[in-house]
Amino acid sequence: MKNSSKFIIFAPKKAKPFLLFYRKKLNDEANIEIEIQEMQLPEHSAVISTTKNLTGKAERELENILAGKELKTDESFIIKVSKEYSLVSARSFSGLLCGLAETYHQIKKNTGKPLLENSVSSPAVKNRFYHICMSGTTPNIESLIELMKDLKILKYNGIVIEFENKFPYKKHNSFLHQNHYMLEDIKKIRKTAKEFALQIVPLVQCLGHLEFLLKFDEFKGLCEKKGHVSSACPLKNGTFDLFKSFAGEILFAFPETKYFHIGADEVRVHGKCPECKKHEKKNGKYSAFAEYIKKVTNYLFEMKIIPMIWDDIIYRHYPDVRLDGLSKQTIIVNWDYWTKNTQKTSELIFVPGRIGITTSRKRMFDINKFHPPEQDGEKITYEASAFFEDYRWEKMKIYDFIKTKDFPATVKAFPVIEMIKSDGFVPAGASNVRKSLQGTENQDFLQRVLNNKAWGEKLKSSNVDFFIATSWGRGNSLKEPVFNMELMKYTLASGGYFSWNGNGTIEDYDEYFDALLNRLDQPKLSLSLQDLLKGLYSIRSGAFYSEVEKNLLPLKNSKTPFYQMLYLYCKNFLFSVRYESYMERLKKYIYRLEQEKNYPSQEKKQIQQTLETYKKQIQKIEKEAIKILIKYVVPEEASELVTSIFYYKKIEINSLLEIIHKSEQN
Ligand SMILES: [Zn+2]
Repeated sequence: MKNSSKFIIFAPKKAKPFLLFYRKKLNDEANIEIEIQEMQLPEHSAVISTTKNLTGKAERELENILAGKELKTDESFIIKVSKEYSLVSARSFSGLLCGLAETYHQIKKNTGKPLLENSVSSPAVKNRFYHICMSGTTPNIESLIELMKDLKILKYNGIVIEFENKFPYKKHNSFLHQNHYMLEDIKKIRKTAKEFALQIVPLVQCLGHLEFLLKFDEFKGLCEKKGHVSSACPLKNGTFDLFKSFAGEILFAFPETKYFHIGADEVRVHGKCPECKKHEKKNGKYSAFAEYIKKVTNYLFEMKIIPMIWDDIIYRHYPDVRLDGLSKQTIIVNWDYWTKNTQKTSELIFVPGRIGITTSRKRMFDINKFHPPEQDGEKITYEASAFFEDYRWEKMKIYDFIKTKDFPATVKAFPVIEMIKSDGFVPAGASNVRKSLQGTENQDFLQRVLNNKAWGEKLKSSNVDFFIATSWGRGNSLKEPVFNMELMKYTLASGGYFSWNGNGTIEDYDEYFDALLNRLDQPKLSLSLQDLLKGLYSIRSGAFYSEVEKNLLPLKNSKTPFYQMLYLYCKNFLFSVRYESYMERLKKYIYRLEQEKNYPSQEKKQIQQTLETYKKQIQKIEKEAIKILIKYVVPEEASELVTSIFYYKKIEINSLLEIIHKSEQN
């Protein structure tokens, strides 16, 4: 095919919505003009050509491809390049869109020239889902639709949606958020999913993490323990009825649903109400939980829907849980957001029967913890590991094991996947692309990418069919929100990349990501994007801050949502690190201003001025932040995010100003 910035795509009508998106992107980013011609071609095929007259030759070639054996899975695609045209072909609609997405990446890589390369590609993992939780910084509908379209460019084929309080429930809906989606929005989501070949997997928490519900008087009677709003009682009829009511309404809106996630992670309050106590006494710890899970999953199986459930309660925290009788078709999703290396894990697994994960020696016995080797400007972090929650670990056999020469033992990463497999259930792996615990100024972007890489490798080598890249809006509905997904492009793209490829180095990925971002009006940064993202997490030094400062203007002027969000993130970062370091010192001697009569008033004045300056800076960032966030996030949650970032700092400043003010009156 000739070098040209103009081309025609012949494709079936069904591909048009995707192609319109594709065309707009390539036009905006690479100034390429694309004409879309609807054409009846052999199924799931398209032809990219520079001339309008397509001969029958292309069709015959496509038929040959489809009759051949190169397309190994439903979503495998072929790109075949010849002088006159390039063919894209697959055995499914999703495969065709993934093939077209590949041509997008190739064009971006070749700096905007439609120079395509021959390629035959198959996904490493069959189901590559992205998960979004709508408990904080929920995208407005336009932003969500844009995100869904982008998912296809990144070769995902499904989206797990945890609507929480944003679905327009008709019944039991007193708890809905004021910015919840409308029925029209839900229809748009369904339509986009169809057009972009994305499966919708609804997630409705069936027992735990119900803070958003149980905090209200209307529902608090369902709590397992009075006043503990995280978990409902599995034996109260109302709990199951409520789940069925919500699930029923969602399934009515998404009748194509094949998989349904029932949550059930971190259900830590159990066996507390009189009924459950009795049940557990008779049938063992967590018996009421196990029975309830069976009831919920059976309800879905009866509708020919396959349930998914988080793994932590069953496989990690509470090894006493027995799920005998649970259908082996149940998909158990192992969420592991910390593993970065497929070969090793920082954690040790101890298996007398089926006991979970214990802590690492590194964390427990690191005597050098407070004297790390000197490294300029770098923040040294220690890998945290999971603890048994329900056990006193020193009482377990593990303690003797730690004392033996076998410790630390090296253990392969992702041991839970093998445990799920050996129990005969269907395993799934979940990575993380947005971590709630890392807040608004401490996102470890690189770690997220490494985690996705490790998962891709593991799932490919263990032939696991399900992958979910999770993105949490906040820790739970009572906690503070994190930034919206527009900031998380680097991590989001890595989930799609590694679950499709199943291998590849970070360098390969970075090259792919650079091409993905590449556009004509690219902001010119003084350091690579990857270095900037890494530094924002790990470097605390004045020199780095100046470097970040240099990039504020180009980021601010960019029209790309990702760069705009990165601007905001950097702006907040710079303010925070400087503010914190000033406060760190001031906190230590503030008592003297209050207690010492002769403390120089000039000194006090200076402190006062600095604090006033910080106050003004906060106001300025707040104004800017809301202007940016409101484009992507539902209004109430955009403003909550801004509030959460500065709330405590404002209290701190005001109370210090108060101290100074009082000391002057004395
Ligand atoms: Zn109970």
